[in-house]
Amino acid sequence: MKIPMLNLTAQNLPIEAELKEAFANILHSGRFILGPEVDQFEEKIAAMAGAKHAIGVSSGTDALLLALMTLEIGPGDEVLCPAFTFFATAGSIARLGARPVFVDSLEETFNIDPADAVKKITDRTRAIIPVHLYGEMADMKALREIAKRHDLALIEDAAQALGASSEKFEGKAGAIGDFGAFSFFPSKNLGCLGDGGLLITSDEELANRARILRVHGMEPKYFHPYVGANFRMDPLQAAFLRVKLPHYENYTEKRRKNAEFYLERLAELPGVFSDPETAPEKNAVLLPKSNPGHIWNQFTLRIRGDRPTSERRDEFRNFLSGRGIGNEIYYPKPLHTQECFSETGQSEESLPQAEALARESISIPVFPELSDSQKEKVVEVISEFLRK
Ligand SMILES: *Cc1c(COP(=O)(O)O)cnc(C)c1O
Repeated sequence: MKIPMLNLTAQNLPIEAELKEAFANILHSGRFILGPEVDQFEEKIAAMAGAKHAIGVSSGTDALLLALMTLEIGPGDEVLCPAFTFFATAGSIARLGARPVFVDSLEETFNIDPADAVKKITDRTRAIIPVHLYGEMADMKALREIAKRHDLALIEDAAQALGASSEKFEGKAGAIGDFGAFSFFPSKNLGCLGDGGLLITSDEELANRARILRVHGMEPKYFHPYVGANFRMDPLQAAFLRVKLPHYENYTEKRRKNAEFYLERLAELPGVFSDPETAPEKNAVLLPKSNPGHIWNQFTLRIRGDRPTSERRDEFRNFLSGRGIGNEIYYPKPLHTQECFSETGQSEESLPQAEALARESISIPVFPELSDSQKEKVVEVISEFLRK
C-alpha cells in the first residue's frame, strides 16, 4: 500500500460536477479578470477569516509582498521573521530591498520566539512577520505587545493556517495583526486548482491602498498615484474556491481526527514523547503539541539521534519512503544559512532552535482523505522502525 503526502484527486472528484459548472459559468461569462466572482469570494472569506476586508491576489507570496508594499517597506528597513519557515516569508522582504532579520523559533510550537525577536529590534525595524507554521498559531499575544511597544507593523503569514485559533488569545489567524496573508497553493488546507492567495485586514485605509496596489497602483484608470504591480486573483480560481469553501470545516475536522489518531497511537510506542520539555536530548521521537485551534496543515515529528546531526531523521525518512509512506521535510535549511541571504551577515550567527528543527523535523501524511487503514499502516511502519 502506497500512501501519498496528499491526494488532491480524492478531494476534488466528489465535487467534480460543481467544479465543472464553476468553470462553465466563467467560460460563458467572458469575464476573466477580477469582477463579481472575486468580489463574492472575498466577501465570504473575509467573514470566515474574521476580518473586515479581503483582497484576492495571485499567490500567498504576492499577498506578503502586497502587505509590505502597502506599508511602504523598502530599502533601509528591517523586518523580523523566523528563520524556520518557507522561503517566501523572507523572500518577499528581500525583494523590496528591505532586510530580513532572522529570529529563532520555539521548540514547542515550531514558531517564532518572541523573546529572541525583541533582541533583534533596532531603530530600522519596521515590521514583524510571524508565521503560523503547520497550522499552529504563533504567540500573537506576545507579538502584539512587542509590535505595539516598538511601533512595528504586524503581518501574519497565515499561508498554512486558514481558520486556526488559539485558546491563549482572541482572534483567528491572519485577523490579529495589521495584515494576514493566506495562500491557496494546492497543498494548503484550502487549495485552488493553480496559484492563488489572499490578503486580509480590518483597516479600511490599508485595504483601499492594497486594492489600488493590486492593479499597478492605478486609481482611477490609467492614473497612478503609486507604483504597484499585477497581483490579481483569477475569477476562475475564486469560483473553484467558492465551490470548496462549504467543505472547508469538514476538511479541517478530518485533519484534526487524523492528528488525534497519530498523537494517541504514536504516544504508545517506545521512545516517543508528547512533551518536548521532558523528552531526552538524544534518541527520541517527539510528537507535535496538540491544541484545539490547530488546523494541521502538517503533522510534523522530530527525530533525534545520539548526535546533533540529521542522520537519524534521514534514516527514518528512508525507512518510510522504502515502505511507500509519503513524507516531506519542511524545511531542511534554515533561511539565515541560505546562500541568497549570505550578505545579511547572519549565516554565521547561531539560531539553535531553528537549526535543530531543520535537522530533526519530518512531516507525515495528515490530509483529510487519509483512510483508517492508511493511518494504521503509517503507525505500523513507524513502530517497525522504532523496534529495529
Ligand atoms: C505556501 C507558503 C507561502 C507562499 O504561498 P504561495 O501561494 O505558494 O506563494 C508563504 N509562506 C508560507 C509559510 C507558506 O507555507
